[in-house]
Amino acid sequence: MTVNEELNPFVIAQTQLDTAAEIMQLEPALHELLRWPIRELHVTLPVKMDDGSTEIFHGFRVQYNDARGPTKGGLRFHPHETIDTVRALAAWMTWKTSVMDIPLGGGKGGIICNPKVMSPGELERLSRAYIRQVGRILGEDMDVPAPDVYTTPQIMAWMMDEYAFMRGHNVPGVITGKPLPLGGSAGRGDATARGGMYCIREAAQQLGIKTEGATMAIQGFGNAGQYAAVLGPALLGVKIVAASDSKGGIYNPQGLDPDALIAHKADTGSVVNFAGTDAITNEELLELDVNILVPAALENQITADNATNIKAKISAELANGPTTLEADQILHENGVYILPDFLCNAGGVTVSYFEQVQNAYGYYWKEAQVHELLNEKMTAAFQSVAQTAKEYQVNNRVAAYIVAVGRVAEACKLRGWV
Ligand code: NAD
Repeated sequence: MTVNEELNPFVIAQTQLDTAAEIMQLEPALHELLRWPIRELHVTLPVKMDDGSTEIFHGFRVQYNDARGPTKGGLRFHPHETIDTVRALAAWMTWKTSVMDIPLGGGKGGIICNPKVMSPGELERLSRAYIRQVGRILGEDMDVPAPDVYTTPQIMAWMMDEYAFMRGHNVPGVITGKPLPLGGSAGRGDATARGGMYCIREAAQQLGIKTEGATMAIQGFGNAGQYAAVLGPALLGVKIVAASDSKGGIYNPQGLDPDALIAHKADTGSVVNFAGTDAITNEELLELDVNILVPAALENQITADNATNIKAKISAELANGPTTLEADQILHENGVYILPDFLCNAGGVTVSYFEQVQNAYGYYWKEAQVHELLNEKMTAAFQSVAQTAKEYQVNNRVAAYIVAVGRVAEACKLRGWV
């Protein structure tokens, strides 16, 4: 494996699968089928910019496996997006919907762009251009996108609207994470972080750790990270002591006020320079002496270079793929309890699934109902992973793979694919 390959998220996803496949003694054809996306579409998008020029963007949609149901997965706008990142994220979506036992497969999409330097008009034209190309393989019974890094409910609304024009009628269930007036679900906004907090609650109970007063550091202060900062104290009684974003981090061992920090980020565009805190780097944040670490930024943040310095008891992976293969092994050997990404951050897709169900019924649930159903689903998924970890004597990540891959493999077999 070359150095680059070690950090290639798709190589990581395939290697994680290989480990589970070996333990499960998955038959070779089934194993090979599950190592690859079923299909993918690469698109080139000309977009008129505000200055009158035309810029050409490149995008992808990967449908990894649909044996258990229509593919489902977020859409990223990121300057460093690659097809292999999208493939890895699509694979993780497949395992995520499966570990949660919801009747969906896994997919993911991405556009190589820097939304931070684009105007709302340019973003709208790019979003609509993407749907004009990718819409042909989307549908409530085919493939359903959702928001992810640097995409928002407004972007979902434009995309849903473009798709409705293509089809000639409204199809709210074609995309989730929509604004509430367009058929979004109550409770979708904070669902990823909320699901993660339910997982931490279960893990802490199992480990005999009290969450009340426990310290938490959050890397990445976007959708997932900001809600974790609010819900951690609200649901678990933890104290947020550090947070970071792409511009840097801040730390106060006495704790900080999450709402004030969110307001500061809204005003200034970053957590940096938040009053009453010390400046730290992203690397320093990961290595802080805290009880709970929440990676909520991007992939490959905990690597062989820093894993030995991680002091947290629990690493709750709200981000997808934050831990490299080598780092995973080091954390495990050092007794760090990992809540693996596709379990820990599955709250988002679970409420997205609730959104699809509500769209199909044309009947909408109250927020409290969404929270209760999410709690049930997350707790059940955590327990099945924890039980499998015990049964097979493996770590949580491998256990989550065994549960998820087992269900997808069974569906492939029942369909007669292998
Ligand atoms: P977001 O765009 O809202 O926020 C991302 C945050 O990470 C931003 O604050 C950004 O400044 C920060 N960031 C970027 N690069 C960083 C770096 N090198 N170091 C520290 N911070 C950095 O995205 P999000 O929706 O919160 O997603 C974050 C992670 O959670 C991603 O891995 C995503 O795939 C995963 N996730 C999100 C959801 C969801 O519902 N939003 C669901 C499942 C998984």
